[in-house]
Amino acid sequence: MSVRLILVGPPGAGKGTQAELLCEALGIPAISTGEIFRRHAKAHDELGQLAESYTSRGELVPDEVTNKMVAARLAEQDAADGFLLDGYPRNLSQVAALDSMLGESSIDAVLSLVADDDEVVQRLLGRAAEQGRVDDTEDVIRHRIELYHAQTEPLISVYRERGILVEVDGMGGIEEVAQNLVSELKAFLTK
Ligand code: ADP
Repeated sequence: MSVRLILVGPPGAGKGTQAELLCEALGIPAISTGEIFRRHAKAHDELGQLAESYTSRGELVPDEVTNKMVAARLAEQDAADGFLLDGYPRNLSQVAALDSMLGESSIDAVLSLVADDDEVVQRLLGRAAEQGRVDDTEDVIRHRIELYHAQTEPLISVYRERGILVEVDGMGGIEEVAQNLVSELKAFLTK
């Protein structure tokens, strides 16, 4: 299916997992800015070191850097027939940047995973114990969640006003949430 999607949700809502499942089901690439930053950080290259100096504190990587990286990724061949953006845009200025990359009406749907703060903190602390991600300490986690409310939530209203917001309960099990995402998306797109 040729469809252009954005997935938003608080840290710990299971975005990465759901992005992969959904993209497999739809046959489109998942483009995760967090994942790209982690890959560069592992390679210890210039972008990776720069990104990690922000991500390790729970700060956003500067827009200029992130926007340029996304523009380059969207220009790759596999994104020509649809994609799902996971973790981008994350603030209003990134919304404006994406609009100028693609045009305002080019996104088909914005899927918003709805989850509550206490639950996501518990999940992230669990993941920290398992995987040891550098941005998974409790203070950093709380800061990421604050940033989500302050900077990312406002873009949900923008997309709601554009009539492309699809809200999905993110609090069930992985399979359950995955099924809800697919069915609510299909219902929205055939409306
Ligand atoms: P989570 O959803 O758990 O916050 P991500 O993998 O999406 O994890 O992102 C990890 C980190 O990468 C973020 O906390 C942030 O520092 C950085 N990052 C990811 N996407 C963006 C973005 N669009 N703009 C700026 N920074 C970003």
